[in-house]
Amino acid sequence: MAYLADTHVHTIYSHDGQMRMESAIQKGLELGLKYLAFTEHIELDLISIKQVLNRYACYDEEISILQEKYPQIKLIRGMEISNPERHIKELEIINRLNLDFILGSNHILPKENNKEEILLYYKRILAIIKNGGIDSLAHLDYIKRACDDSCVPIELLEDIFQNLINYKIALEINTSALRRKNISSFPSDEKLKLYKSLGGSLVTIGSDAHRLAEIYDNISLIAEKYDFNKGIYLKRKFVSLDKGAKS
Ligand SMILES: [Zn+2]
Ligand SMILES: [Zn+2]
Repeated sequence: MAYLADTHVHTIYSHDGQMRMESAIQKGLELGLKYLAFTEHIELDLISIKQVLNRYACYDEEISILQEKYPQIKLIRGMEISNPERHIKELEIINRLNLDFILGSNHILPKENNKEEILLYYKRILAIIKNGGIDSLAHLDYIKRACDDSCVPIELLEDIFQNLINYKIALEINTSALRRKNISSFPSDEKLKLYKSLGGSLVTIGSDAHRLAEIYDNISLIAEKYDFNKGIYLKRKFVSLDKGAKS
């Protein structure tokens, strides 16, 4: 079954989003999508939880209105939280909201591309997973935007994947890599194979679109390429879009 979903989209509710929700929905409908997740940035290093909640109220209301107007596509209430492990109290509050889906991201890239900082980038990811409160781990090796990460020992990656599996957190396959540096995906093909070899199965696929032309970018290609249990989250529960697959 085709993966007719994009689980990672930013609108003007995100500081860097460049499209309105309604235009994104119309684009999704043109593409034949059944599910569209609005995963707006939550940067708790920059804004207070009060600001998050005020903005969320507007976001929530707009989704409700648009969902009524466009019943053909299921709108997924999501957030992409930057480094949630640094904001435990705020994460608890966010976990009590009426959300479908929470993506956890490490957006702290190394300043110097030395081995120590590259390892720290991955150790932060491990801390995000162990802290919990998220459904899917976004763009694992996003660090490749800045540097070559081949110095990372396989044991650390295995530890990350094993913890994702144990905590039942999905791994996101983020297709924005193809737009940015012509890298196949975040995570890379080798890392996806490692996840699979350890028994990893749950994945969500997202374009990380910030503008209309990027919605569903390369998602069908990636979905066909990999044999995982590909799904979405609704009311914080994994829903498989693969026929016959078990969640
Ligand atoms: Zn991100
Ligand atoms: Zn994003």
